[in-house]
Formats: sequence, C-alpha cells, structure tokens
Amino acid sequence: MVNKKRPLNPINYAPANLVKPVFDTGAASNPFGLSLAKPAAKAIKLMANAMKAAGAGTLILESTYRSYSDQTAVHAKDVAKYGLAAGENLAARPGYSEHQTGLAADVGAVGFDSCRIRVCFAKTAPGMWLAANSWQFGFILRYPDGQTAITGYQFEPWHYRYIGVDLSTAMHNAGYKTLERFLKVPDAPSY
Ligand SMILES: [Zn+2]
Repeated sequence: MVNKKRPLNPINYAPANLVKPVFDTGAASNPFGLSLAKPAAKAIKLMANAMKAAGAGTLILESTYRSYSDQTAVHAKDVAKYGLAAGENLAARPGYSEHQTGLAADVGAVGFDSCRIRVCFAKTAPGMWLAANSWQFGFILRYPDGQTAITGYQFEPWHYRYIGVDLSTAMHNAGYKTLERFLKVPDAPSY
C-alpha cells in the first residue's frame, strides 16, 4: 500500500524480482522494454491476451517500474510543467510512487496514441475493456474518476495496480472504488 501518506520503506526500495514481460501479442505490447515485478508481469500478459481475444485491442506498456531516481525526474518534470498542485496530482514525489513497487503499470493500446496517458483513454474500447475486466487478472484502476480527495491523484484511466486476484475480486465484489477505502486505511489527498 503506497500513497501520499505511506511512502516506500526504505524510501529507495527496489524490487528484487523485476522481469521484462514477453507478450504473446509481440513486441508491440512492450515497445520500450519495460520491467515489472514478476507476479505483475505474469498477470499483465494474461490480461493482454484476454483483451486481444475480446477484440478490445493490443495493450501497450507505457511506463512500469520506476526507480527512486527515475521518479525524481518525473516529479520534477510534471511540477515544472503544471505547477506544484496539479503536477503532484499526476506525479508522486520520489519514494511515494506505486511505480517504484514494480506492481503498477501505465498502459495504452496500439492505434490510440492520441489518448496516450490522457483522460480520453477512458472512452476508448481498450480503456473501457480494462476498466471493466482488469479485476479478473488482479489489477485495479488505482485512481478512478472523482476520487482525488481519497487517492490524492486525478483520474488516471491508464494507471493499473496489481494487488492479486484474491484482493481484486474481493474489492470488485464489495464495490469499492479505492484501495484506501477497501483496505480501511486513511485517505491520502496530500503529503
Ligand atoms: Zn502511473
């Protein structure tokens, strides 16, 4: 559980089990050669296969594991571009990003470049399929629309977090929108 109130411990934590998922859909799904922690890598491959089989498109990994120092650069770039408040609704401070766990992935789909890491991804066929079905593969849409006061992040229809099928199924069945409320930890709108 990582959010603006709960940093990684240690702050510069790095997962030991990073692997580059090799997709049945081929290199198109991992064009940047990105890595995830092993359980998330295995699950995202299954999710990409199911998405393809459903006719909902070819999944692309846009950003996955980011180290403490990678995150320092991402945070600085977004704060410079959007200002502190809006920038921090998009990019975590280093040590506070789910991407540092190796269990989070920003995804897109082949042919939907205009909605790459943009809110309009939610309205695309791949975005809608992922929102409806990711729980079956252990992934949750971590920053849903209208939940910024709880999660601390704007709507990010591209950001999925692996929590395992048991937890994602329980969360889905109980109808929770956020991991904070499902796990009954304090809301994390700010640092
Ligand atoms: Zn993300």
